[in-house]
Amino acid sequence: MKGLSKAKWNFNNSYKELPEKFYAVNAPTPVRAPKIVAFNEELAECLGAPKDTGAFSGNTIPKGAAMLSQAYAGHQFGHFTMLGDGRAILIGEQVTKFNSPDIQLKGAGRTPYSRGGDGRAALGPMLREYIISDAMHALGIPTTRSLAVVETGETIMREKELPGAILTRVAADHIRVGTFEFASRFGTKEDVACLADYTLKRQRIPLAADENKYLLLLRAAVNKQAFLLAKWQLVGFVHGVMNTDNMTISGETIDYGPCAFMDEYEPSVVFSSIDKYARYSYENQPKIAVWNLSRFAETLLPLLSDDENSAVAAGQKEIDKFAELYQNFWNVGMGAKLGLFNRKPEDDSLFAELLRLMRESKADYTNTFRALTLSEKEVAGTKLFSRPEFHKWNEKWRTRHSNQTKTKSEIETLMKKHNPAAIPRNERVEEVLREAQKGDYEPMNKLLAVLKEPYGYTRAQEEYSKPPQSSCRYQTFCGT
Ligand code: AMP
Ligand code: MG
Repeated sequence: MKGLSKAKWNFNNSYKELPEKFYAVNAPTPVRAPKIVAFNEELAECLGAPKDTGAFSGNTIPKGAAMLSQAYAGHQFGHFTMLGDGRAILIGEQVTKFNSPDIQLKGAGRTPYSRGGDGRAALGPMLREYIISDAMHALGIPTTRSLAVVETGETIMREKELPGAILTRVAADHIRVGTFEFASRFGTKEDVACLADYTLKRQRIPLAADENKYLLLLRAAVNKQAFLLAKWQLVGFVHGVMNTDNMTISGETIDYGPCAFMDEYEPSVVFSSIDKYARYSYENQPKIAVWNLSRFAETLLPLLSDDENSAVAAGQKEIDKFAELYQNFWNVGMGAKLGLFNRKPEDDSLFAELLRLMRESKADYTNTFRALTLSEKEVAGTKLFSRPEFHKWNEKWRTRHSNQTKTKSEIETLMKKHNPAAIPRNERVEEVLREAQKGDYEPMNKLLAVLKEPYGYTRAQEEYSKPPQSSCRYQTFCGT
């Protein structure tokens, strides 16, 4: 790409303006034989970032780099713990014309927050994050991005020896609910205020003279999470580990550990092997977002008012807005998936009825909407579409279409924009990761190309849209 020839690092290090307790400066641990195996040229071009094996592996420290790990805490499966970047090191904030996102190495060696960990990451999970985060971005879902993956030329010890890798992650910033929990539990009121002021500035949240700025910060976070959660639900994405340290204030999806897209529509679905009580199931995600946002709101209480009762009331009022915001985002999104340009009260039952039938028929989530988009001819033969109840629903749906003044082609265009023809299906992702770990990156690159245009409805995507062969439920592991 032509832009890359002029690319260079151009770091700002605003995070260092925070009190020192918020981070620890430490260099990455060099690796033996780094090799770039994935590089996002398009993203690099947006960032003006060079293809820099030295920087991506931690073997060289670019000029002006911060090299710091962030302190944070968090509720993991409901329990409070001190955490921090145990294997992540922020190189710096790359200044571009439009923004200054964080460039961070994941798996670059031990940090003061590593606890018992080795600070390293395995190749499979880093490539998985690269693939899924890229797919999420293409789907139009706010997310951290992946700029590069390098193989380190070293192995790491997990249940068995695995090839090591480092992911270069790009994020608006890495401020988590857990960062605020850290400030609140281990710092002073001034520390929380400092972090909140920094976040307001970094995220360019507009202030209003007549409103408490920290309330505006909470409001913005609630709004962004409601939007994000609606987006996840609409594509059938299950994050898998929505601990408060894995929820950003910026509203970007972060931490692609045990996440997965669901195949058959089942709201109670859980993929993560460690989520024994289904805390982070698909259907629980919006509720968990509210739980996490409540932990965020708690940290801000001393800043909302000197009177505790008024602070709690003000915070609660913001949290309570989530439900309606989320529902509105979801309604509009589901309407668009079904080709509806406006909203009518009867749409609620239209949506609910379809989802009930899909669940009962164990219909594939993505393919059902894809099939509806492509007209009935494409859908013949599946269990859902042969049910008399579905035909009744279909009639209602068609009537609803005829009640709006849009042509068939306008409806199809809207549906195609909201129903992906291709998602990173678990089986296919596993397949390309297996090949990549044997040294063949071609299948992965083919999959990445298909996922770049999820709404493209291209020929190449057809092969990737098949539901899984195996009826066993896919399982994901945190062992990263
Ligand atoms: P995660 O489940 O990825 O959100 O990680 C939870 C915490 O464990 C974070 O503080 C990570 O930085 C830390 N962590 C995960 N893996 C490692 C590792 N291999 N070495 C050190 N810290 C780790
Ligand atoms: Mg995490």
